[in-house]
Amino acid sequence: METTSNCPLCSYPIDPTDISVKCNHCGNVNEHHNVMFQCGFCQTDLEKVVCPNCHKEFTGMLLLGSYTYKLKGIEPFNIPPVDNNDAALFLRKITGEEEFEFRWDKKPKSMMIYELIYSPSGKSYAKGMLLTVSIDLWEHLLGSGEFSTLEGYLKKYVIGSISIEYDNSSPINVNAQPLQL
Ligand SMILES: [Zn+2]
Ligand SMILES: [Zn+2]
Repeated sequence: METTSNCPLCSYPIDPTDISVKCNHCGNVNEHHNVMFQCGFCQTDLEKVVCPNCHKEFTGMLLLGSYTYKLKGIEPFNIPPVDNNDAALFLRKITGEEEFEFRWDKKPKSMMIYELIYSPSGKSYAKGMLLTVSIDLWEHLLGSGEFSTLEGYLKKYVIGSISIEYDNSSPINVNAQPLQL
């Protein structure tokens, strides 16, 4: 059986039953490997695979199955220069049942909206970053002193980008992609 999936980072087509995987435990390369199986040399679980196209590492299981989320499971918050009032009006149109696919081995918990246009008659959109932590935890972390700059926190907790758009004649469209800063 031939199955084709895509690299979650660059969309390059990859067959999850026929991929080269280097074992981090014994160092051998498993050729024509099925991501479901263990290392053929030392029988260790092979968790990470490397995309032959973009050469980035990700969890092999991401090549199997689908990862669908609903907006109601993602807590939204906005940062300047996004206007609080515009954000409230924008979010009022969203029911929470809107779904999006996001293939990554960590679950998004919140989205930090950094750009937003609300237009009652035209096109409205929001752009944000997906974080692995809730809003409460994010605010707590920012005060923890773990990093001296915001960039440090973003590098650790941002896992994706998200955009939401709609206008009066079209339904709400949500797109998300993995992002490593
Ligand atoms: Zn091995
Ligand atoms: Zn790739």
